[in-house]
Amino acid sequence: MSVTEHIDGERLWANLMELAEIGGIAGGGVNRQALSDEEFSARELCISWAEAYGLGIATDDIGNLFFRVEGSEPDLPLVMTGSHIDSQPTGGKFDGAFGVLAGLEAVRAVIDSGVDHKRSIEVVAWLNEEGSRFAPGMMGSEAFVGVRSLDEIKQVKDKNGVSVEDELARLEDRFADLRKLPFGREVFCFVEAHIEQGPILEKEKTPVGAVTGIQGVRRMRVKITGEEAHAGTTPYDLRIDAVQEASRVIEKLYEAFSDIEDIRFTVGMLTIKPNVPSVVASEVLFSIDLRHPSSETLATCEKRIGELVSQSVTNCSADVWCIAEADTITFDENVIGAIEVESQRLNIPCRRIFSGAGHDARQMSYVCPSGMIFVPSCGGISHNVNEHTDQSDIVAGTEVLCATLVELANRLEISSKTESQI
Ligand SMILES: [Zn+2]
Repeated sequence: MSVTEHIDGERLWANLMELAEIGGIAGGGVNRQALSDEEFSARELCISWAEAYGLGIATDDIGNLFFRVEGSEPDLPLVMTGSHIDSQPTGGKFDGAFGVLAGLEAVRAVIDSGVDHKRSIEVVAWLNEEGSRFAPGMMGSEAFVGVRSLDEIKQVKDKNGVSVEDELARLEDRFADLRKLPFGREVFCFVEAHIEQGPILEKEKTPVGAVTGIQGVRRMRVKITGEEAHAGTTPYDLRIDAVQEASRVIEKLYEAFSDIEDIRFTVGMLTIKPNVPSVVASEVLFSIDLRHPSSETLATCEKRIGELVSQSVTNCSADVWCIAEADTITFDENVIGAIEVESQRLNIPCRRIFSGAGHDARQMSYVCPSGMIFVPSCGGISHNVNEHTDQSDIVAGTEVLCATLVELANRLEISSKTESQI
């Protein structure tokens, strides 16, 4: 029996459904935000599965979780796979969870088959990929590769004023027995399995996507400041109404970005102060999420946002700033190629695909050859309780992941250059 024949699709599916019960919400979705009690319980469940297979279990100072199967040459840099187990407040069963559990199932198959692999293989559950409770997300992978410092991340607070530092202390208490690993360990290559979160693979009836890159993003904040006033007694000409101005600004921005090809402009969050029905608002803070495959276009649009906001406000004052920026990245041609070759060998249809959504693999691509495997999302739906992927696609993606991990774990060399850099 080959290694991929040891993938147990029923077990993997049952694991996914069991994990989805933790933080389960009406409609079959999941609310499992980073460093919450639900996320702690999800960790416990994953750890129990890893223990059952005798995997090495460890964490680090930011609360990433690692499960390892030793290779025959454990001193060689390891092959890593994984994703995240936190979710959006109204998330689905598969976003993130699929990547972690597919990695776990792949490692089980490696152990059960006894297949040779020189390099150790590690499955990671990165801390706070989603960023819905503590923004911005990808904290675990960013700390691991050194893009953001632990001290900076620890200061981030949720909307109730609870800091990452507070919650990390609680996490350490709960999982005091876990071995701690340092940041910046050398990784030979990283492969993340994830649902597509878009409609292409389903439409083309292709179970596996070899991801070529991730589009760039700007996460911005705009603050419109006016003056609090009585809604009944203050005449219009004396008002400095932050809501009125903010709605005008948002309308202008949507208009400006409506006809640029491939642009994704979203205002998804508004906070109003004092947020009381009979008071003219003194402040509106809103978010902008801006994405485009071209880094140049993104930079131009970011500049345009600043100009448009200042042109659109009349009475209020406005501040615009960027809280996170990431340019478009290209994954490693060797990893993309390995995914394609293994798909072909397994007779599983595969196509190249570009990712519109951000993933932890972006951070890993800064330090090692990286790539991703997508499986179809029914109706392209994600960040939604109705998120679904058929079991057959889950299994196909996991087989390709497993074969790719074993192949890479037996390689002695890999060029870190992408095709465009060669
Ligand atoms: Zn995700």
